[in-house]
Order: sequence, then C-alpha cells, then structure tokens
Amino acid sequence: MSNTVQQWLQTARQQLAQFVPADEANIEAQVLLMHVLNVNRAWLIAHAKDPLAATPIAMVEHLLQRRLQGEPIAHILGAREFFGLPLKVTPDTLIPRPDTETLVEAALQKITGAMRVLDLGTGTGAIALAIARHAPRCEVIAVDASTAALAVAQENAQALHLNNVQCVQSNWFTALPAHRFDLIVSNPPYIETDDPHLLQGDLRFEPISALASGADGLQDIRQIVAEAPGYLNAGGWLLLEHGYNQAEAAQQLYHAAGFEQVQTLQDLGGNPRVTLAQWPTAPTHQ
Ligand code: GLN
Repeated sequence: MSNTVQQWLQTARQQLAQFVPADEANIEAQVLLMHVLNVNRAWLIAHAKDPLAATPIAMVEHLLQRRLQGEPIAHILGAREFFGLPLKVTPDTLIPRPDTETLVEAALQKITGAMRVLDLGTGTGAIALAIARHAPRCEVIAVDASTAALAVAQENAQALHLNNVQCVQSNWFTALPAHRFDLIVSNPPYIETDDPHLLQGDLRFEPISALASGADGLQDIRQIVAEAPGYLNAGGWLLLEHGYNQAEAAQQLYHAAGFEQVQTLQDLGGNPRVTLAQWPTAPTHQ
C-alpha cells in the first residue's frame, strides 16, 4: 500500500493516466488528496514524504475509484470554480466550463449602470452569480426549469452573499413576471441529440436537459431568439453561448428576429462560441 503523500500521488496518477491525459491525471490525483486532507497544493509539495494515515487513504481511495469509474471530478468534489467564484455543483446541474467565461465577459462589457439582467437556464447559477458579483448595481433574475438546479443556484447565491440575484423557476420565459430586461444571457443546451459526445466523459453524468437540444442542437436557441424580443427593452442585448459550428445559424436566427449589431465572439480555444445582438433602440418603420 502506498503510504507517503508522494507515493500515493504517483500510484493514483498512473491509474488516472489510463483514461485522461498525463497532465490532467497529475492534477486530478493532487485535487483528490487535497480535498480529503483539506490542504492546498503547496502543502502536498512540502509534505511529500509524510506518511498518510489509514483513514485518509481509505477515503481518497474511495474517491479515486469513483473517478476511475468515470464520475466527473466536479461531482466527486461537489464543487467547481467559475470566473473566480467557488460554486457548489451536483448531478442536477451542468458543470460550469471555462468556455462560458467568454459569455460572462461579453455580458459585463455591455452592462452599464443598474441594468436588469436575465439568465436563462442558470444551473449552478454560474453566469448569473458572476455577473451579479462584477456588476453589483444590476438586478439579476436567474431562471431554471429544474427545481433541483434552482436550489443549487440559490445555495450558491447565499454562500457568496450575492443579494442582487433572484432565482425563479421558469421554463425559459414562461413563468417570468411581466417586465423587461436590459440584457438576457444564456448558455442553453445546444448539442445534437445523437451526438456521440453525449455518451463520453463528464457529459454522461450531466443532466441531458442541460446538454441536448433537438436533432440540430438548435431547438432551444431558436426558441430563445424568437421569444427574447418580448422581454427586452429597446436597445437591450441578447447573448447566447452555442456550439463551435453554430455561429452562422445563430446569426441568421438573430437577423430573422429583427436584432441588430449581430456579432460572434470566440472562446479561449479559438472557437466561435458566443453570438450577441441588440434589440433596436427605436422602432424600425418599413
Ligand atoms: N459546451 C458543452 C459541451 O460541449 C455543452 C454545454 C451546453 O450544451 N450548453 O460539453
């Protein structure tokens, strides 16, 4: 049995490297042990030669086995950091991804002053909470169709002391109060229902309702773009995350719905990831 910090990490790394890339295996082994010992990475390095007691070894071995069965690290830890915020994550929510930080940055660039912001399909609350933190004068409404997801978002809002976020159960716009927003943001499901990626990696453990959206992956984006004008103030913005190959389709939908200033932004990996547009500031007479 591996009995020092270093020895345990090495054995765990070798096992993990059989199904994730070597650098990720290294980080994952460290993260699991940090979680069980409640220490940071510097501690692991400084205490590499310390013996591990039987109880923490049993605990971390259990977590390692779960990971080796494919369970996402975010589910094992029950947490994931997004935009610098520590968030609770459960199997009822999408695991926040770095790609989505592009969406938050774009939203923050459009926000001036005390705007009313709507986040559709909030999941953990990641997008709504990041906006609420960085644009504290905004009033953010975070909606989700899933009560279980909404409970997680609510818990995250409370833990982060973000009082300018209100969680509302709603299937897209259906249960929203009758007022308009200055900015609507969403990371909706956008994967094609028969995409083989749904059967791989972390996605197998995430709610399918947060991932898949009809045969072309655009069912929800189509609905949101069509209905958003009824909930936007003149000059308001709609920002949507989408698949790497959906920018053109998203742009066409925006144009067809009457939006202006349509543009697409790339994520950190260089993929077209976010398309945004403005609802006209003055009525167009044609
Ligand atoms: N970007 C995620 C993925 O491809 C999907 C998230 C989503 O559907 N909104 O793994």
